[in-house]
Order: sequence, then C-alpha cells, then structure tokens
Amino acid sequence: MTAFPHLLSPITLGPLPLPNRVLMGSMHTNLEERGDWNRVAEFYAERARGGVGLMVTGGMAPNREGGVFDGAAGLFTPEDIANHRLVTDRVHEEGGRIAMQVLHAGRYAYTADCVAPSAIKSPISPYTPHELDEAGIEKQIADIAIAAARAREAGYDGVEIMGSEGYFLNQFLVTHTNRRTDRWGGSPENRMRLPVEVMARVRQVAGADFLLIYRLSMIDLIPDGQTWDQVVTLAKAVEAAGAHAINTGIGWHEARVPTIATSVPRAAFSWVTQKLKGQVGLPLITSNRINRPEVAEEILARGAADMVSMARPFLADPDFVAKAASGRAARIAPCIACNQACLDHTFAGKVSSCLVNPRAGHETELVLAPTATPKRIAVVGAGAAGLSAALTLDARGHQVTLFERDAGVGGQLRFAAEVPGKEEFKGLIDWYRTELAASGVTLHLNHRARAAELAGFDEVILATGVRPRWPEIETAPNAQVINYADLLSGQATAGRTVAVIGAGGIGFDVAEYLVAERPSTTLRPADWRTEWGVGDPTCWPGGLMTPEPERPARSVTMMQRKPERPGRTLGRTTGWIHRASLAAYGVQMLRGVNYERIEPAGVRISFGQSRESPRLVPADTVVICAGQESERGLLAELGDRPVHVIGGADVAAELDAKRAIDQGTRLGARL
Ligand code: NAP
Ligand code: SF4
Repeated sequence: MTAFPHLLSPITLGPLPLPNRVLMGSMHTNLEERGDWNRVAEFYAERARGGVGLMVTGGMAPNREGGVFDGAAGLFTPEDIANHRLVTDRVHEEGGRIAMQVLHAGRYAYTADCVAPSAIKSPISPYTPHELDEAGIEKQIADIAIAAARAREAGYDGVEIMGSEGYFLNQFLVTHTNRRTDRWGGSPENRMRLPVEVMARVRQVAGADFLLIYRLSMIDLIPDGQTWDQVVTLAKAVEAAGAHAINTGIGWHEARVPTIATSVPRAAFSWVTQKLKGQVGLPLITSNRINRPEVAEEILARGAADMVSMARPFLADPDFVAKAASGRAARIAPCIACNQACLDHTFAGKVSSCLVNPRAGHETELVLAPTATPKRIAVVGAGAAGLSAALTLDARGHQVTLFERDAGVGGQLRFAAEVPGKEEFKGLIDWYRTELAASGVTLHLNHRARAAELAGFDEVILATGVRPRWPEIETAPNAQVINYADLLSGQATAGRTVAVIGAGGIGFDVAEYLVAERPSTTLRPADWRTEWGVGDPTCWPGGLMTPEPERPARSVTMMQRKPERPGRTLGRTTGWIHRASLAAYGVQMLRGVNYERIEPAGVRISFGQSRESPRLVPADTVVICAGQESERGLLAELGDRPVHVIGGADVAAELDAKRAIDQGTRLGARL
C-alpha cells in the first residue's frame, strides 16, 4: 500500500491517459537556445525515467515578437521541428509524456518589437510594447495556433497555452494593461475574447485528439486584477472552447507578493484552485510551493485539485515520483525554493540548474560514472561542500571517510535553517543525514581531523568552511558585541534594540531573525496572507488587499560602508522580497557608514570621507555580519601533501551553498 494513493492514481486528460497525477510544470531552462539538442533531450529523458506523469516544456515563442527575449526558442523552421522531435522521441523511448508550452510574452518581452493590447510599459521590461491593430491580433492568434500544430508535428503529446503570470493573453483580460475600446477591450466579455479565440483556433488547427491545457491566472495579485466572477466565466469559456484541463497560474510577474519563494508557505495557493472546483467539468491542476509528495497527496486527498504541478522539485530530483512510489520519499532531494540556480540563472541568461542538484541542466556533462579505481578518500568538513563531495564519491564507488568537528552535519546551512522563512533548509539538512545513513560513507562527528590520521588516505579533501570575520572597529570593553554565528546557533542572544554591522545576505537574514515572531508566517499561512495582502478574489479583485505587516519583535538598524543600496547582492528574483519584508518591519538601513566606535549604548558612526553627521546608532546589542574568512588551519599541518580545497575553505568571499555544492559535486565526479 503506497503512502500516496491519490498522487499515484492514474488520470486521463482529454485523449491522454497518465499513470499518476504529477505534472512537471513549465520551466525555462535556457538549454533550447544553446542549440545542443542532445542536452535538451537528456534533461527531459532523465525526468521521464523518473516516472513523472506528464511534463510541460519551457515556454516556446509562437513568433519573434512574442518571445521572452530576442532569439527565444520556438518552432519556426523545419529544423526546429526536427530538433524538438529528438526531445519527444527520447521522452517517449523512456515511457514518458511531454506537452509543449506556447508562451507569448506580450509586454513582458525583452525585445523592442514586443506587442500588447495597449502601449503600456511593464515595470519589468525596458520596452514599451506596440499596440496591436485588428490584423496584428489576428496574426498573433494564427501564430499561436500554428505553434500548437507544429508541436504536434514535432511529436509532443499536447500543448499548454500560457494564459497566466501576466503574459500576453493575461494582458488582454484586465484594464490594468488593456485600455482598448474595440471588440478586444472594454467590457469583461470583450477582454476575454482573445484567450477564448486562441483556444478555439488551437483546437481547430491542432485537432480534437491533441491534449490542450490552458494555464489560467486564478489570482492576478495586481491592482485592477480579475474579479472571481471573471475568472470563473473565463474558465467556463476556455472549457467550451476545447481545453482538456486547466492549470493554475498565481500572480503576475510584476506582482509585489511573493508566490514561489522559500518564505511562501507550502501549497499556499491550493485554496485558489479549490475555489474553482465544481465550477467547471474538466480536471484542474494546482501549483506553487508544492515540494513534497506528502503535501501533494494532502491537496489531492482533500479534493482541492485533480492534479498537482511541481516544477523546481524536478530540478532538485528527477526521480521524485519513482522515489515516492517505491517507499523512498525521504530520499527525494528537496527543492528549497531558493531560486538561486534556477530562476536567478534564467534571468541572467545562464542555463537553469539547481542548488541542491548541480546535475540539473548538465546531465550530459556532469556524469557520475562508477569509478574503475576505488580509492580511500578523506573529506574534512561536513558542510555543504564536504557533504556533496562525500556523497558523490561514495555513489561512484570510492571508500569515503567524512570528518566533522561539530556534533552535527550541515555547516553554514544550519544557520540558514534558523532564519524565519528559510525553514526549508532544515529539510535539506535532514536529506543529507538520510543520504549519509544510506551511503557507505564513514562519518566521524565531534572529530577534529589531524594531519597524522589523514596520512593513510589516497586523497584528502579539505572542506573546512569559514569563520565569521571580526572587523577592526574600536570597541569599549563592556559593549555587547556578538557575531551572527553565535546568534543563529543560539549561543548568544540579542536585546530589544539591535545594530547590525554588515548588510550582505547574512545581515539580511540576521535582521529577519531579530524582528520576526516564531513560528514565522511561512508556517502560519493565514497570517502570511494578511502580511502580504493576499485576499479572497471574491471580495478583492485580483486577490489583492492592503498588506498588514506583523509588529517587529525588536528595533533593528542595519549598516554598511558601501554607498550603494543595501541588498544589491541578494538573489535577483528574491532580493526584493527580503527588502520589502524588512521595510515592512521598520528595519532602518544606513549606507556609506564609517564605524567610529562600538559602545555600550550603541555604535558611533559618521558618513562619507569627511566623516560627516556623526551620530550614535542606539543598540543594546551589536551583531557583526561582516562576511567570512576561510578556515584552513589544517592546510599548514598537512605541509606539502597535495589536497583538494573546496567550498568556503577555498574562497570565502561570496560563498553560498550553490557554489559549495557545485564544487563538491564536480570534484566528486572527477576523482
Ligand atoms: P557578504 O554578502 O559578502 O556581506 C558582508 C557584509 O559585511 C557587507 O555588507 C560588507 O559591507 C560588510 N563588511 C565586509 N567587510 C567588513 C569589514 N571589515 N568591516 C565592516 N563591515 C564589513 O557576506 P555575508 O552577508 O556574510 O554572506 C555570505 C554569503 O552568503 C554571500 O555570498 C551571500 O550572498 C550569501 N547569502 C545570501 C543570502 C540571500 O541571498 N538571502 C543569505 C545569506 C547568505 P561593506 O563592506 O559595505 O561594509
Ligand atoms: Fe529549488 Fe533552489 Fe534548486 Fe531552484 S535552485 S530548483 S529553487 S532548490
């Protein structure tokens, strides 16, 4: 008897029977644009092997003006169709099913040729779109329908028409972006004409026996968003136009409400899909922040949806479904919703990968082949870098001994796990523990490795991490100064008024730790909705109401010496959330600061080169978050012996788990 009877039960979407209710949601990988189609095919084939019910590709442009950026992939030529055929053939060989998403970006396109219902620039693109005329609208409809027909020719099992997240079709639906006065604008009926016409045309051109999914924005989370009545009317019209299933879209990309970040509660929006249940006859697919089979099972068991879409979890673990089905759910590598190697890469034009699984998107290049010459390998340090190296080497057949000075594994990951809104890191550490227990790695905790005991190993890997930097600031003897590690590990506490020295990633984390109540709103979904202003779309058009932030637990001032805006180094897709959260808590941020002296009453500072505006930042506790230095004491002890140095021990500056895990895994694959 499986623990996931609903999740693993079959379902039929239109013409397509599926073995389970798991859909791998659309993700832009940036692989298609690189032209290495074997790599694209292997990315999807690996996930097909892992047993997912249905996959949806990253969004394919229906035409040049609708591409997310100049040169975005689409099925424009016979060669494109042949390339996509490689992908669909490989997926089908593995017993999988794959639908292609057709995505017209409208005003979100990063191209000067972009088009939209009205010439209204979006806050997330530098280009003002060209307003379409009647012929232009007809061209877009025809191009989308042709893209769907070509998807069929390329061997796809269906298409998903992207109608949410604020893209082209969504832009017609609301007055926020549609100011037209012709038959494509004005009344709600006119505004929904385009998506419905698109669906009818796709159905006509691609055929009734070709799976057709519509991704519908169920809660826009922007001003002047759709009312719930309009959402329901559209869903019914889309069904009547020939859709076989409706997938859930949550929030426009320009929305100032987080929808997929790690601080968003798990399954935070499944109630929105549930609201639509019973209003239409076709299967509904829910999505957003679902990253564990237990969460997905619970959603289906309570009837909130017919299927569950997970996207990033399939970057973290292609074998998600196979592991859930074979009683190995604890061994599913968790997506911690950090966006660091997936969405942040996408926006930087890099290949999308995964912090937890660096093989994602690199399946053909980062191959973990069994070793022909097993070695005895010592890994010193069980933080992210050491754990990744040890487990990779073990998986390849080496004999690995892992030494850790502390009582537990995880290194710096343990600090992140203590930050309110970053609870997912606990799951990552648990997963490492599970993997270690299932591996052949010999683990020595509470053990500071010495050079002599490393002598008998064939290879030594130093992953001893970092120690907090202690800046040279004149400090009065009785001042209350602690560092972030002592605070986050619970070895030190802070008073009611706190000054934070350093406004990098850890400074932001520490500020959140200081101001947020426990448990965090991430674990209190109703309070999280209140905090961010997410309301019931029946009462609030677009589901947007006035946010009501919680009261801060402390008064906090963050400081940095650089004159630039604090938080510039935070993740591209998540930095704004951290800044908005701390602003809502009333955290003060000072930049261009000189630290003159730390005193019992606070930090004496001045500004700029001429040390202007001296003042005291009041604080009963000062927390130092001034970066790190590499911990490499063992290196000197080892003398001339060649060692591999990875993670923070290698380079402390801008160390993050992504680099550490990537470096550990790549070294593990090489030795
Ligand atoms: P960081 O991002 O490099 O920030 C260090 C901070 O300390 C800066 O604000 C820097 O600002 C200040 N600083 C450096 N040297 C100093 C000195 N001698 N005296 C006083 N202040 C000094 O390092 P971190 O905050 O420790 O974070 C470590 C890594 O983890 C980073 O790569 C970070 O991106 C990552 N991380 C990211 C997140 C996230 O994205 N949410 C969260 C946690 C950690 P000034 O030099 O201007 O004073
Ligand atoms: Fe999930 Fe982070 Fe991996 Fe993206 S990089 S898939 S958010 S764990």
